[in-house]
Amino acid sequence: MDDLRIVVVTGASRGIGRAIAVELSAPGTHVIVNYNSKPEAAEKTVSLIAGRGGAASAMCFDVASADAVKEAFDKIVKAHGRIDVLVNNAGIAKDNLLALMKPAEWDVVMATNLRGAFLCSQAVIKPMMRRRYGRIVNVTSVVAATGNPGQCNYAAAKAGVIGLTKSLAREIVSRKITVNAVAPGYIETDMTAAIPAKAREALLGQIPAGRPGAPEEVAAAVAFLASDLAGYITGQVIHVNGGMFMS
Ligand code: NAP
Repeated sequence: MDDLRIVVVTGASRGIGRAIAVELSAPGTHVIVNYNSKPEAAEKTVSLIAGRGGAASAMCFDVASADAVKEAFDKIVKAHGRIDVLVNNAGIAKDNLLALMKPAEWDVVMATNLRGAFLCSQAVIKPMMRRRYGRIVNVTSVVAATGNPGQCNYAAAKAGVIGLTKSLAREIVSRKITVNAVAPGYIETDMTAAIPAKAREALLGQIPAGRPGAPEEVAAAVAFLASDLAGYITGQVIHVNGGMFMS
């Protein structure tokens, strides 16, 4: 048991999750860097945090697996006695037009992006309620608001994350636990590197800021929502998208 602030970031081995994990690291904080398939990348995040004088450890579990999530969070609570911040960031895309989409492409995206946020949130609720403190930040997407051809599965999962955010926020606001979401626009990561050049150009044309966002720009919004200063903000979605969509 310790007095460290315990932060769990899912999908923190790369991209936006890594930037969030690094941004949330600080003296007195221990960041759990979750990953699914790339241990070296997760260790790189851990060493970036160590380079800033923070504490971190990598932890492999599939956010879509109820058993794996339970085992992982039980272990965290046993070791540290608390969880202060959960960032549900892990996500995947399996793009296809709806007419061609295989049920497996639908299911795996829903399982990772929506069920994962449900399972991890459920796992932290009790330890947070016991301490009457907690911050949950869910990473959704601009396409939850706008839709996007080829992303019916992804947009539906991300819209589901917003419904989850608002409903859970109402369930636990009296326990001093806040639940919010951050909706990135087009951010340069491995996920967007997979977009064909022509489609990337078209996307860039839709961004008034005239450039893609950086993972650190998303991390800054998450860090604010995870901070004590944001204690009166709950059930909200902050868009980080260079003006691509304004709610
Ligand atoms: P990324 O570079 O592809 O990284 C995805 C991360 O999620 C990796 O750390 C990966 O772990 C982890 N992950 C995937 N499946 C997992 C699972 N089943 N269990 C645990 N971890 C899992 O993606 P990104 O662009 O940083 O995206 C991060 C989040 O932002 C996602 O939720 C995404 O939907 C959202 N988002 C991204 C953009 C964008 O433009 N990039 C825009 C809007 C929203 P491994 O490294 O171990 O595979």
